Amino acid sequence: MNQRKKLVVGNWKMNGNKASLAEAQTMAAGAASVSPFADLAICPPATLAGWLADTLKDTGVALGGQNCHTEARGAFTGDISAEMWADLGARYVIVGHSERREYHGETDAIVAAKAAAAARAGLEAIICVGESLGQRDAGEALQVVGGQLAASIPDAIAAKPFVVAYEPVWAIGTGRTPTAAQVAEMHAAIRDGLRARIGKAAETCKVLYGGSVKPENARELMHVENVDGALVGGASLKAADFLAIAQACS
Ligand code: PEP
Repeated sequence: MNQRKKLVVGNWKMNGNKASLAEAQTMAAGAASVSPFADLAICPPATLAGWLADTLKDTGVALGGQNCHTEARGAFTGDISAEMWADLGARYVIVGHSERREYHGETDAIVAAKAAAAARAGLEAIICVGESLGQRDAGEALQVVGGQLAASIPDAIAAKPFVVAYEPVWAIGTGRTPTAAQVAEMHAAIRDGLRARIGKAAETCKVLYGGSVKPENARELMHVENVDGALVGGASLKAADFLAIAQACS
């Protein structure tokens, strides 16, 4: 029996406006009821981050960024540094989400540099990895994800806490999910990869599953061996769904 408490992270992506603060308040109010078995975090769009920092302060829901720059400051119009997220009170920052890898050309090397920036700023990077459908169908999923993992974890982070999120690209926003056996196989391989990379710290490193997690499938997915929580997109926009997913970790 491992001692890793489950972590459920909501990735709001480019969704939400001021009206969404009411959802965040409901999540904060519900955090106590799920806190015995799951920690919560929300990664809002930057426009809402300041408000959420206030709304979530001293509640059971942590704040996270969806992305960060590799540098701490400078002439990088439109970017946000890990230090800025830390200054706002964030605990986490997602790096290497497949949408960043696909639409912004982020390579493993860039993801590793962003994870190093997160560690430098005292944040826990949530490092995302995951195979495409073509790679899964070609029987390459384990090899692809193993390669991404090895190349996306910077040496600088090894002694500091971070989180891994396994998100098969074909499961994100599609309503499709891998079977419990496929998730178990991948998470065991990721745990082994972490052991090879960071030794004993691999036993406390949380490995989240992400991709179409909903209240209806969360109980099965969250109880697969080596699954330490969820990275949730669409279902994290509604407090009732988000809290139901956390409840399913019990
Ligand atoms: C995500 O984008 O991280 C994600 C898992 O999205 P969804 O839950 O909507 O599939």
